[in-house]
Amino acid sequence: MNNKTQHTVALVTGASRGIGAAIAQRLARDGFTVVINYAGSAAEAEALANRIEAAGGRALTAQADVADSAAVARMFDAAEAAFGGVDVLVNNAGIMKLAPLAESDDALFDRQVAINLKGSFNTLREAGRRLRNGGRIVNLSSSVVGLYQPGYAVYAATKAGVEAMTHVMAKELRGRNITINTVAPGPTATALFLDGKPQEVVERLAKLAPLERLGQPEDIAAAVAFLAGPDGAWINGQTLRANGGII
Ligand code: NDP
Repeated sequence: MNNKTQHTVALVTGASRGIGAAIAQRLARDGFTVVINYAGSAAEAEALANRIEAAGGRALTAQADVADSAAVARMFDAAEAAFGGVDVLVNNAGIMKLAPLAESDDALFDRQVAINLKGSFNTLREAGRRLRNGGRIVNLSSSVVGLYQPGYAVYAATKAGVEAMTHVMAKELRGRNITINTVAPGPTATALFLDGKPQEVVERLAKLAPLERLGQPEDIAAAVAFLAGPDGAWINGQTLRANGGII
């Protein structure tokens, strides 16, 4: 176990499933105590916490809809009560609803803005006030910011907003020795990407990257772990696209 991360607490939003679960597992393996946030998947979050503890790690589950600022504040309270403070925030919770802009209804817009953009704002605000000096923040964007395919207008807009907040906050955190960066995955094999896509579409998208496969949640977790760990100390205010070379 690495001395630097031995008593370091990492809060990962949306960690019950998919990329967030892989991030929590990887950070626990790297020696972080992890707070596993979830919205609805309590059983999955508890099972992950049990797996981490069985492997010798420390984990706490914390239910909170990231779109709800009061719930996010309570989640930070719970993490501080359990472990004394929070050092690392990984803003991973997100949803994706695709439709051409002209056919997008208000609910599609409002829900993605509430969870992806306001949700990130809610956790970033708490982190800006409470993260211990020397900490790290990693936000999840998407390589659709850059690719800009049809159907992704609202989703890409929320993620572009997350990238913008990353750049501004890097400057606002001056004097705290806290880095903030964004990881922007490409197509990654999770429910968010796979659900509702016919097999031939999945296969076509998997071949887009020169590395000719889908990303796995562990590929993204490795990039996040780099930025959250000792080797990422000099990276600040950047967006790291983890996508096999798709853009
Ligand atoms: P999944 O749909 O597999 O998992 C989403 C996770 O977010 C779940 O743990 C879910 O928890 C949680 N979540 C959803 N809404 C909320 C909420 N309101 N409050 C708290 N938690 C919530 O998604 P992925 O793992 O694929 O995506 C993770 C991140 O990566 C997202 O930000 C996504 O935009 C981004 N990304 C994903 C890509 C991909 O191809 N998969 C590509 C580029 C970016 P619960 O089940 O408890 O609701």
